[in-house]
Amino acid sequence: MIRPLAFLQNHPHCLERVYRFTLAVFRRARPLLARVGYDRAARVLVPVERLTKGAIFGCQMCGQCTLHATGMTCPMTCPKNLRNGPCGGVRANGHCEVIPEMPCVWVQAYERSRHMPLYGHEILLIQPPLDRRLADTSAWINAITGRAEDTGIVWNADD
Ligand code: SF4
Repeated sequence: MIRPLAFLQNHPHCLERVYRFTLAVFRRARPLLARVGYDRAARVLVPVERLTKGAIFGCQMCGQCTLHATGMTCPMTCPKNLRNGPCGGVRANGHCEVIPEMPCVWVQAYERSRHMPLYGHEILLIQPPLDRRLADTSAWINAITGRAEDTGIVWNADD
C-alpha cells in the first residue's frame, strides 16, 4: 500500500494531539450523529477514514482503531496482523521476520510511543481480540458508541 503521508508517523507527539482533539470533537458531535443516523454518517466517514488514515498509517479499516495505544503505528500493517507484539521473530537489526527489509511494526510502535506524553503509556496495555465483524466500519463511530470495546468477545488479559 502506498502511503504518501507516512512521514507524519515520525511525529507521534503531534499525531496524538490530533487524535485527542478529534476524539473530543466526535464525542461532542455524538448527539448530532445519532440524530443523523450512524449508518448514514458512516457513509461519509468511512471513505474519509480510508483516505486519510490510509495515506498516513496504511490503515486497513479494521474498525477497532488502537493507534493511540500503539505509538500511532497501525498494528494491522504487521504481516502477522498482531494486535499485541512484537512476536518472537524480530531480527537483531529490528526488522521483521516475515519481510526482512521491513522494520518491525512493533519495534517502531514502541519507539514512537516513547515520544507520546499523552498516550505513550498505553503501549503496555494488552489489546483485546480483534472483532472482524467491524471490518470496513467507521472506527470513530465505533469509538464513541462503545462498539469498539463492547464486542461481546469474552477474553481475559491475564490468560
Ligand atoms: S488500527 Fe485499524 S482502524 Fe486504526 S489505522 Fe490500523 S487498521 Fe485502521
